[in-house]
Amino acid sequence: MNDHAYLPTLVTACGLILLLTLESWLPAADNRRRRLRHATRNLTLWLLNLFVVALLAAPFIANVAGWTEERRFGLLNLMSLPPVITTLVAILLIDCLLYLMHRANHKIGFLWRFHRVHHSDAEMDATTAMRFHTGEILISSALRFAMIPLLGITLWQLLVYESLMLPVILFHHSNVNFPEKLDRWMRALVVSPAVHRVHHSRAQVETDSNYSILFSFWDRIGGTFQLRKDGRPVDFGLAEFDSEEWQRVSGLLTTPFQIVNS
Ligand SMILES: [Zn+2]
Ligand SMILES: [Zn+2]
Repeated sequence: MNDHAYLPTLVTACGLILLLTLESWLPAADNRRRRLRHATRNLTLWLLNLFVVALLAAPFIANVAGWTEERRFGLLNLMSLPPVITTLVAILLIDCLLYLMHRANHKIGFLWRFHRVHHSDAEMDATTAMRFHTGEILISSALRFAMIPLLGITLWQLLVYESLMLPVILFHHSNVNFPEKLDRWMRALVVSPAVHRVHHSRAQVETDSNYSILFSFWDRIGGTFQLRKDGRPVDFGLAEFDSEEWQRVSGLLTTPFQIVNS
């Protein structure tokens, strides 16, 4: 594996500590109880996913990236662009693909079963950025595995993308009362809290929008960008998974396999 493979995890851990502190000091929703229990559950999923990815996905991704680089395979290797431009194009291509994948997670029933674990969090905060079912993580690892040779992406470019994307996703899930002016500046380029909170709404008409991950312009291009004009706080979660049994780690892990009327 690449020497800098630890970078995304390090960035995540530092960003998380900073945002958890800000959430205590300047919370957007300040009526939250049992924050520690909520964080422990979400972070247990994250640790499980780190372990599974290190075991089942990372070695294959490193191998295919080595193969791609050695043979100069894939779209980006067909163009002879300066390295900085190649890296910028790679970041844009990865982010565009993840935007499309996120739309598919909402539109394809099988994928939604896994993705709804992320959406069933009624108390969204920075730890929600780590609340993904292991099945969804493995599916997105398979997408990365296919994307590397097709687009001609290097492991270094993937690490740069993830080191940029992870702080942004922690930030836009956080329960911090950021000034509207800061949010407005931020959402001109990347996905801000005001944008992503709408995506976590209980109202499907709002959930079906704001799928972008890092850059906010994919939603504007795809016609899926939406903001709340009145600034009312968003009610997060999924009614069918509100009960305590679905919020425990065991419930989170079994959520994809439940038949619910939704
Ligand atoms: Zn989603
Ligand atoms: Zn989210």
